[in-house]
Amino acid sequence: MSENRFDLIIIGGGPGGYVAAIRAAQLGMKVACVDKRGVPGGTCLNVGCIPSKALLQSSHHYEHAAKEFASHGIQTGSLEMDTATMMARKNKVVMDLTKGIEFLFKKNNVTYFKGAGELVAANQVKVMPLDGSDEQLLCTSNVLIATGSEVAPLPGIEIDEERIVSSTGALSLEQVPGSLVVIGGGVIGLELGSVWRRLGADVTVVEFMDTLLPGMDQDVRKQMQRSMKKQKMKLKLSTKVTAAVTSADGVQLNLESVNTGAVETLQADIVLVAVGRRPYTSGLGLQQVGVALDKRGFIDVDERFKTNVDGIYAVGDVIGGAMLAHKAEEEGVALAEYLAGKPNHVNYAAIPGIVYTWPEVASVGRTEDSLKQDGIAYNVGKFPFSANARARCNGDTEGFVKILADAVSDRVLGVHIVGPHAGDLIAEAVIAIEVGASAEDIARTCHAHPSMAESLKEAAMDVDGRAIHI
Ligand code: FAD
Ligand code: NAD
Repeated sequence: MSENRFDLIIIGGGPGGYVAAIRAAQLGMKVACVDKRGVPGGTCLNVGCIPSKALLQSSHHYEHAAKEFASHGIQTGSLEMDTATMMARKNKVVMDLTKGIEFLFKKNNVTYFKGAGELVAANQVKVMPLDGSDEQLLCTSNVLIATGSEVAPLPGIEIDEERIVSSTGALSLEQVPGSLVVIGGGVIGLELGSVWRRLGADVTVVEFMDTLLPGMDQDVRKQMQRSMKKQKMKLKLSTKVTAAVTSADGVQLNLESVNTGAVETLQADIVLVAVGRRPYTSGLGLQQVGVALDKRGFIDVDERFKTNVDGIYAVGDVIGGAMLAHKAEEEGVALAEYLAGKPNHVNYAAIPGIVYTWPEVASVGRTEDSLKQDGIAYNVGKFPFSANARARCNGDTEGFVKILADAVSDRVLGVHIVGPHAGDLIAEAVIAIEVGASAEDIARTCHAHPSMAESLKEAAMDVDGRAIHI
């Protein structure tokens, strides 16, 4: 096989692309991964999951030290925040992880091209190297498109990444803004709003819908609204931003109530636009090879991730569904295994979603609203962390575990957790849904004491009205 001929060429080195590359190489394919960012890891490692969680951790420590240490008898004196050190740490976390992917590429003999990839034909990809060297034409049996997503713009509000920033700008502010207005009360809005609020910014979230985190379970939404307000995050729900005027002093926003049409203005040092993300396909040459998109610009694929063109596949954010790194990874592995003739199946009913605020939110499976809509009879079990001994020891008692189980079979249909370490606790619920467990299965499983996980057992017992500690 010539140097420039591959079994699989992957365009995009994010969680969908790089994981597919490694799995396909493990299965014996000759694989190339082309990414134009200059470092692998995509949005997630470079400007998404990882830097945001690094900053959430730093800001959590700061707030904890400022507000919680004294009750443990630890006197800190006055605290100072060194934003530059926090950012340097975040950058190092990102750099170490991206280097890790380059190492894994080498270990698995994945050829990594730093450059923009463009489809010239179903079996040919042109690479424009970032270092300005000559274009290369690569030949392949299969192409996987894993080019991810980009920030969705808000008409009339121009992102300059200085005063009006996207998540990328909000991950690199040099100092704590006096005031931050976040447009969009979704996942990014709450996570990055939390980072800067904890460090001292006056944060207002402007959300178009009448709730934060629309789409999540109703009890989660209510609890998170309470928790965010308690933390002094200001919420303007059912409100839209109609204009933004930037000056040397900051940004003036015009707001309009969705219900009454009443208008008001709001001044901010920094505005974060976080109203969703859209598929990224520009410059890929999709038109010239005839790959079809759906109405919203996502690449159309079948259940085996094949586009309408033979030999061209797509996974991750660019095909829509939950825009989550682990969903992209599952799809990448499945695609590699399909190509190798192996069975696989991505169980979309068992993909967890986590919001890394404090308290955290973690959900998997059906919400109460969706069960009602589909007329499915269900039982609810709920257990508050305030009744959990470990949560009391830790001083983290906000939130609950809620389990939705089929009224007839008792099968677990959905689990929603708001609380400390919800993002880790949800793994048990994901397995329950994956293996088709009943609430009774969880209720009869021994959980260590004292542990947060006991709340899952108690919520499962509550499905049958027999929780012990409430
Ligand atoms: P991406 O990660 O977007 O990777 C696509 C890559 O393709 C990019 O590197 C891009 O440069 C490259 N590319 C595009 N076009 C070309 C081309 N023509 N040639 C070469 N390369 C190209 N998800 C979670 O699960 N957990 C989280 O905690 C989380 N936090 C997030 C926080 C933020 C602030 C953001 C913005 C997102 C977060 N996400 C999180 C979502 C997650 O980042 C995405 O779901 C995930 O990165 C999608 O992976 P992907 O492989 O589909 O695409
Ligand atoms: P999102 O869809 O989570 O939230 C966008 C919010 O903006 C929604 O609440 C929506 O109602 C609101 N909105 C839309 N238009 C508006 C307008 N004109 N004015 C005011 N509000 C408006 O999107 P996001 O927070 O931008 O995140 C993008 C994607 O990144 C998500 O799909 C998410 O899955 C992913 N992400 C995941 C994590 C995580 O897993 N922890 C973290 C960050 C991002």
